[in-house]
Order: sequence, then structure tokens, then C-alpha cells
Amino acid sequence: MKELAYVSLKLPSNGKLDYVDSVEIRSLTGADEERLAEAASEAFLITLHEILANTIKGVNFNTLSLGDMQQIKVWHASHSFDDAYTAELACSMCDKTFLHEYRLSDFGMTLLEQEVPDSYKLLLSNGENVFINLLRVTDYIANLKRKAAGESCYLHLIAASLTNTQRDIEERIEYLRSLNRKDVALIAAHQSTHTHGPNLMSSCACTHCGAIWNFTAPFRFEELFTFDLLAG
Ligand SMILES: [Zn+2]
Repeated sequence: MKELAYVSLKLPSNGKLDYVDSVEIRSLTGADEERLAEAASEAFLITLHEILANTIKGVNFNTLSLGDMQQIKVWHASHSFDDAYTAELACSMCDKTFLHEYRLSDFGMTLLEQEVPDSYKLLLSNGENVFINLLRVTDYIANLKRKAAGESCYLHLIAASLTNTQRDIEERIEYLRSLNRKDVALIAAHQSTHTHGPNLMSSCACTHCGAIWNFTAPFRFEELFTFDLLAG
């Protein structure tokens, strides 16, 4: 079997978490796509993440942060699918639509600048302390599995970020249900205080009136899979 070519990819977590700052990564193969095409629809996302895990070397995919996972998805979009895209945008200065062409490889990333504490202490309005971790891919996949099994998953990811390990995940979900809604939002907000990952924002000019607009590339990796290679 042919040896697969790996390249180095810098991770936006930037070495500030408990693992290295880059991975070795390879493109998706025909075999990967075949496995995905034949996955049952409810298992599609789970299979997709198993396949992504097999495309990297140097660190366990499941331990990565969600920002790093997103960066890996953007890399795959650019290297396993297409790098160049066209968006149709509406200009609210002149009321016309224009086409904006962009390349995923032109976008940079937002790096994690500071070390993230293992367990962040947060005081709730009821006087209790909770301890929170940054979510990892393993939490995200557990969430996908709950969804696929038809179990409740609305509070699951927030519950997974709580490091109170004396309680199992169901007990932590129950605990969140008993909290003030604002406290739940405060716990969830911790994830965005350490934002890192692909930065898909750029500016573009209306081709009719020249007005400059901020543009965020719409990015849904899962939607790139159509499994119809002959459709052109
Ligand atoms: Zn315009």
C-alpha cells in the first residue's frame, strides 16, 4: 500500500494546553470517504470524527481542544476538498449583490496566548464554587453519541466542562438543572474566554460601490460531503 504523505500543521492552542503545538496531518483518502459514505446516517458524525482522528499523528485527537479540532477541519476542507470558494453577498450601501472569492488557506488563526489553568474556579450566585475545564474533542464526541442515541444533550457539554468528578455526568446535568439559569450561562461562558481556532474573518469590497464589508467565511465542514463523485 502506498505510503501516505504527512505535513506539519500548527495548532491554535499554541502549546498552551497539556500537549504539543503542532500535529502531523494527512489528507483524507478514498478509503476514508468510502467508510463515511457507508456509515449509517445517525453514525455519520461519529464516524467522521473517528476518521479525522486517524489523519493526525503526534497527539491523541480526542484530547485536543475544540479550537484545534476546528483548525483541523479547515485544513481538511482546504486540502481534502477545495481551497477556493465564492460567496454571494448583499451590499446594504447600494442594495446590489456581488460575488466575493476567497481561499481558506489565506485565513489565519487566533492563537491561545496564555496557559489555561487545569481547573478554573467560578463563584456562583448561590455562593457555591464550581470548577471548569476547557472542553475537549472527547466531550464533543460524547455529545454526538448522546444525540445519536436520542438522549438529552442540551446541558451535556456544559456538564462535561465541570471538573467535579465526584459526580458522574448524569448527576452533573441534574446539578445544572437545579441552578439559576444565569449561573448556567456563566459556566458556559467560560469556554469563550479562551477562544482560539481558525480566524475566518476578512474584509471585502462591494464590486459596485466599493463599500468595505467584514466577511466571515461560512464554514460547515460536514456539508462538504456529498458522496456523489460523479455529480460534477
Ligand atoms: Zn455596494
